[in-house]
Amino acid sequence: MSAYPVDHADGYVKLDAMENPYRLPGALRAQLGQRLSALPINRYPDAGGSALKQALRRSFPIAAEAEVLLGNGSDEIISLVTQALARPGARVLALEPSFVMYRLNARFSQMEYLGVELNADFTLNLPALLEAVRRHQPEVIFIAYPNNPTGNRFARADIEALLESASGLVVVDEAYASFADDSLLALAGRVENLLVMRTLSKLGMAGIRLGYALSTPSWIDALNKVRPPYNVNVLTQETAGFLLEHHQVFEQQAQELRRERSRLAQGMHSLPGLHPFASEANFITVRVADADGVFAFFKKAGILIKNLHGSHPLLDQCLRITVGSPEENDAVLAALSAYFD
Ligand code: PMP
Repeated sequence: MSAYPVDHADGYVKLDAMENPYRLPGALRAQLGQRLSALPINRYPDAGGSALKQALRRSFPIAAEAEVLLGNGSDEIISLVTQALARPGARVLALEPSFVMYRLNARFSQMEYLGVELNADFTLNLPALLEAVRRHQPEVIFIAYPNNPTGNRFARADIEALLESASGLVVVDEAYASFADDSLLALAGRVENLLVMRTLSKLGMAGIRLGYALSTPSWIDALNKVRPPYNVNVLTQETAGFLLEHHQVFEQQAQELRRERSRLAQGMHSLPGLHPFASEANFITVRVADADGVFAFFKKAGILIKNLHGSHPLLDQCLRITVGSPEENDAVLAALSAYFD
């Protein structure tokens, strides 16, 4: 194995990791500083994170029946799920290509991994998925909704069909919910085998590392058994609670990023030699004739994007470009025009 590669990004326009391009507005930064300076950092954090869970319930339409689990990023929640369900012979199923941490955590937990390929246009191959579920009875199925690294959202009816036929846990990973047209959040806690996972990372708080999951009390109890008691630190709990009081600032930014995503896609469509895929996330995956060449050209122009070529056959000659600020997106469009025109 090798460690998860994170590119050195100093000095680059950073469009490789689906971050929100905006820093916290100045007035909020000052208030946050005051709130954090008052914290008793000599004490362990609230192990249950109860104030933060309440703040999440005020900000998002979480059903009363659902319990909440907090994680050090949703990365940690993926690992808690596989740890909780691992036993000899247990299987993890995910789609390919999708978020690589599903497969990696299956390995870390010594579970068997089954990948079901998407169709060539990145839509879900429902018959193949249902057949794999029927044959292998996986303990857990991970679905990114919308999907990373392809950007599309699968048909909701397909996810509902999966929930009906799977006997194991179905994790619907909604990391990109702020940019998507649909969500299963309101069903969490009401559908017995559904766990909806979310993160504050893409909304503008990647640095604080907060992920959360919603499911029935019995699933959340099971995950709490393997959760380190103080997994979400005091600074993160306080910062997330404070920022959720100003949730609308982040939602407005998400709206703007959605508009910018349309502008970027239009610009890509207007150039020859580019095939952008429809996206409901804060990035656009695009196929070109020579992904390595375009990636190197962007790097020379000071823009860091993600080269997906070589990571999966269906991602042949594909690049993933995060939607940035209007100025950053102008720089992307200028670089694409320079290369393709
Ligand atoms: N799920 C998906 C689908 C992702 O793309 C990512 C990050 N790229 C994550 C989860 C992890 O997010 P975080 O750990 O920052 O919450």
